[in-house]
Amino acid sequence: MENWFKYKIKFLGSFLIVFVLFGMIKPESNSSAAAWGFTGHKRINRVAIFTLPPEMFAFYKEHIEYLTEHAVDPDKRRYAVKGEAECHFIDIDHYAIGGANPFEVVPRNWYKAVEKFSEDTLHAYGIVPWHIQVMKLRLQKAFEAKNVDLILKYSADIGHYIGDAHVPLHTTENYNGQMTGQKGIHGLWESRLVEINMEDYDYFVGKGQYIAKPLDFTWDAVQMSNNALDSVLRFEKELTAEFPSDKKYSYEQRGNTTIQTYSYEFSQAYHKRLNGMVERRMKKAIIAVGSFWYTAWVDAGQPDLSKLQNIPPSPELLKELAELDELYSKGIQQGRDCDH
Ligand SMILES: [Zn+2]
Repeated sequence: MENWFKYKIKFLGSFLIVFVLFGMIKPESNSSAAAWGFTGHKRINRVAIFTLPPEMFAFYKEHIEYLTEHAVDPDKRRYAVKGEAECHFIDIDHYAIGGANPFEVVPRNWYKAVEKFSEDTLHAYGIVPWHIQVMKLRLQKAFEAKNVDLILKYSADIGHYIGDAHVPLHTTENYNGQMTGQKGIHGLWESRLVEINMEDYDYFVGKGQYIAKPLDFTWDAVQMSNNALDSVLRFEKELTAEFPSDKKYSYEQRGNTTIQTYSYEFSQAYHKRLNGMVERRMKKAIIAVGSFWYTAWVDAGQPDLSKLQNIPPSPELLKELAELDELYSKGIQQGRDCDH
């Protein structure tokens, strides 16, 4: 409880700084391209620390700023690293051939899925459930090696991909409503709604649990995200029909450019109609992130993290991440250009 209050106070300060800085230097289109928006991803990783058992908490708490800031590295890498983009989503409806349930069509096991659909197809339509498996193993190896840099890097990264798997619009080819005349809904759901409302969310999610079957756990999360997709799209469509058309968007001046954004009124009416969905998915993501960190640590034989305290990230890691920032700020994008 005490930690929670400390966290809240500290967080409010850092949130304001991040928000102001970000608002000044990044165009809206970039910030909304990230799943959960940058602010949502950062919050998920940050709060996930508070789900950890005492044997892990002190180490993670020491690095709370790192894990918060670097929750968005995988999205930055999308601009710099070929093959990164597909790690953030799965267009599961691509496999809904003839109205079949795609979750019955696509084998959960990677090798069986490759056998059925080919590796190229899987990569083309997204690999997030399998990529989380890879990241969990990498994190486990990092714990086994007691490598602080890699524990930090992979903890931050896996938090991002798990966050993505909890977003309904990360499970569909119609990821930005572009196939149903709802272009922009991606940023509306995961950035705009979160930025407006996340201070009102309740983040008591309990303690991280050991995940006996990580692949099934991830697939179940993706399936839950996908189950919510119908409401995500339908409510926006219904609301648009009911809402005065000149009130749906508002315009903000940023420097010399005018940016069109969903109006506060429309955003909140939509948020209300979703009836807590954004908060529920966010909370599920938080507990899932904490549980994956915990599981990787347990599977590594529960190394004594107190021996790894007071070791900051190495200069080499910080240099690597600074270079990533540099590439990102230049906006060099690899792979498919999308809002996934
Ligand atoms: Zn992402």
